[in-house]
Order: sequence, then C-alpha cells, then structure tokens
Amino acid sequence: MVVERSRRECVLCGTSFIGRSFLCHACSARYRRQRPSRQLRRQFYEGVDRLYPCWANTYGSYNIPLGLLRVLEQLPRAVQILELGCGGGALLRELAARGFGKLVGLDLARTALVEARQRTTPAGLVLAEAERLPFRDQSFDVVLAADVIEHVDCVDEHLAEVARVLRKGGLYLVKTPNRPLAEAYYRLVGLNDYPFWHPSLLSPGELRAVFARHGFTVTFVPQPGLTPAQLRKIPSRFLRRLAQQLPVAYLPVWLRPHLEVVAVLGAGH
Ligand SMILES: [Zn+2]
Repeated sequence: MVVERSRRECVLCGTSFIGRSFLCHACSARYRRQRPSRQLRRQFYEGVDRLYPCWANTYGSYNIPLGLLRVLEQLPRAVQILELGCGGGALLRELAARGFGKLVGLDLARTALVEARQRTTPAGLVLAEAERLPFRDQSFDVVLAADVIEHVDCVDEHLAEVARVLRKGGLYLVKTPNRPLAEAYYRLVGLNDYPFWHPSLLSPGELRAVFARHGFTVTFVPQPGLTPAQLRKIPSRFLRRLAQQLPVAYLPVWLRPHLEVVAVLGAGH
C-alpha cells in the first residue's frame, strides 16, 4: 500500500505521474473496465517489489495476522501448513520459530520466492497461483492466507482449490480487508487503481456466503490491535498514538478494518 503522494512511474506502462496509486490514470481506467490477465498480475506484483521495496510485504512484515497467530498457537506442531502468498517468508519463519515443522509456502511472484530463499525460510517454496494449487487432494491440515484472497481473480475457483487440498475438518485461516471500509478508504485517498490489485474484496456477509458454498463454516476472530500497515495510514502522529490504544478486539465485525477468519471444512464436503 502506497499512501504518500509523489511523482512516480506506472508499475505497468512506466508513464510518469503524480499521485498515490501504483497505476497511471490511463491504466487505472483501463483495468476498471477489463480484467487483467494472470500474466499481467504477476508482472504487476513483481514490479511493485522492484519499485516499492519498503512497502512490499515481500521484504518486511507490516500486516501480521495477530488474531490468526493466536489460533495457530493452539494447534499441534505436527500439522501440515500451506501458506498462500507467502511473500518473503516472514510468517513462515515465525511459525517455524513457534515449533511448526511441516511448512509449505506458495507465491505468484518470483521476487518473493527469491527473497524467501535468501532468508533461508525453513519451508518448501512453490511458485504458483492461488487459484491452481499444484498439490494432491487432502494434502494439508491448515491453509493460511494473510492478505491474499482480495488479490485473486476468482474467489470461487480459489476456494474450490483450497477445499480440495485440505483434509476434511481442516482449517482455512484468512485475513482480508473489510470491503465497505477498504473501498471507502481507497476512494478517499484517490487510489483509483484498487480494482486492479484488490479485485475480490468481501464484506463479512459476502465472505460467509461464498465460503459456505464451498463447505466452510466461518468464525470471525477479533484482532488484538491495529497492525503497523494500518497505523501507517493514519496521517498524524497524535492520531496514530490514539489509534494504537483502540480496543479493536471489541469492535463489531462490520466495523473492523480487516477480517480475520477461521473457516472449518465440513466433513460432508
Ligand atoms: Zn500506466
């Protein structure tokens, strides 16, 4: 997420412009009308890693799924975990440090896996899309996706794949922005290109419905506090200090800036 206004080049076409978005005005407008190809999406994420390394989750960890980590903490250490959109592997290393040994990370961007390898992430690393998982049926106990499903082209196709590779009773742990709040924020700050990078935003109700279609029962997990990426969006230091004290764990689901979800795959599916 890039919120400072500056002169920059469009990640896709290289045109110079002043703004906060990743894409120039013409590319933003074009991809509001038409869906980009998967090849173009990969090119975009690799371009973001190259042009904005300080903002990319590939090189840091700004959006920690604090609520989901509390859920993972309760699980036996022998579970097989697949992380989708693993980026530079920060979360996988965190899980390894907590004693999980059977880890696989998947990402669409080659830049992400290069970084994960350089940091000797203790996990199998796979280059693939989250809509076509190159694994056998029922290979994992847990699938984890922090800030990933909003990026996928087709949520239905994606969830069908996750349901296929999970064992019955397995968990899909998800963190994703809350659509109505996220869209209001993107419009407010002029991120006109958001339909390109977040084509599949969901509200709590939409999320529950689409997961149910694929056999998942959803529970929303409260987040203990705002993440560094959320705090960075707040313009003044004073407001940021206030926000740090916000009891976000007590907010109703529809008012949370992002959703953290435990989805259990039904045995009958
Ligand atoms: Zn452009």
